[in-house]
Amino acid sequence: MAEPNTLLLALLFLAVAAGWVLGRGAASRDVADETAPPSQYYLGLNFLLDGEQESALKAFSEALAVNAETFETHITFGSLLRKRGEVDNAIKIHQSLLSRSRLPDVQKNQAHLELAKDFIAAGLLDRAEQLLKDLLELSEDHQLDAKSLLIELFETSRDWDQACQLTESQLSEADDGDPTQKAAAINARRKLSYYCCEAAEDRESAADLEAARELAQRALTWTEESVWPHIILARLDQLQDQPRRAYDRLVTAAKMSPERLPEFVDQLIAVSEVVNCREELTGLVVTLLSQREDPQLRVILADEYSARGDDGRALDIIKRGLNDKPSSRLLMQALKLLGEEVATPEVIEGAQKLVARQSAYLCGVCGFHGPSFYWQCPGCKSWDTLSRPTR
Ligand SMILES: [Zn+2]
Repeated sequence: MAEPNTLLLALLFLAVAAGWVLGRGAASRDVADETAPPSQYYLGLNFLLDGEQESALKAFSEALAVNAETFETHITFGSLLRKRGEVDNAIKIHQSLLSRSRLPDVQKNQAHLELAKDFIAAGLLDRAEQLLKDLLELSEDHQLDAKSLLIELFETSRDWDQACQLTESQLSEADDGDPTQKAAAINARRKLSYYCCEAAEDRESAADLEAARELAQRALTWTEESVWPHIILARLDQLQDQPRRAYDRLVTAAKMSPERLPEFVDQLIAVSEVVNCREELTGLVVTLLSQREDPQLRVILADEYSARGDDGRALDIIKRGLNDKPSSRLLMQALKLLGEEVATPEVIEGAQKLVARQSAYLCGVCGFHGPSFYWQCPGCKSWDTLSRPTR
């Protein structure tokens, strides 16, 4: 277990002092706490002075009487401990709060919610799910929080059906006249589209292509902004011998989101060969590149020329990119095209290693970076926020 930091201990120290004073005044409301000895407080101080931070933390937590006045302090301790990864201690604090029969229902329900968060952090999803479902029955005040946490939980357990049901129920309760609720509703529709895509890919993996198609079509009804449903539908078209339809869908997707083209360019090239449209595809990339400078598109276009043996034109495309918006990927591509007359295999390999060392994807929300693409950021759980840095 990590050592508690000084700030947390200082907070505990002050809170125990204040809490104990308040607790004395409120002792008549919770007889069990009346006799809570302040000796734990002094014991904690001794541990702190001796540098035994873990023992000090435990003693301070035990010293603080639980009553309606100190309740928020306990909740804050528990939440801090959970955020520090000390989930076992957070669970102990919140379970101890729930065992107090004299606390008002509203505070018990809050402890209930915090305990559910602890269980989620500990990976005990079944227990968290039951707590949150109970809370939905018990408390009007915690409906919003409980539903949001349940949705997060269903995302984590990849239960897309339940995630959809709950998000749809949130959506039906939203008031479109309220600007905040309107924005939340737009966000909920986007999420529903992603859930349907996840479910569609699960069905596709299980070779249930009709169910996968139905889910991907449903994703399109929630929002027209995402290219993901088009990519899935195109894959299903290919599997069901409809290459022309697949090609058209992917071309639509490329025009909608040129920045996502690298994620499905291999699929688009393969299907363009089947329907004899490779030239047309090259023309599309030329058009997209004329609309926005993007080193990824430049590399795709250079590859298109190289594929038909026109390395001179490919090199020209890369050189222009190096001039306008240099990146290590473009430099590596240039070295590869210049070949052994200019760069030895070791130099090209070195450049490739340099490119590989840079993170291929970066989340625009939390800064998570890694070599693989995910529709949902593994760091902050936001959807469609990973992109390829253009450096
Ligand atoms: Zn993120």
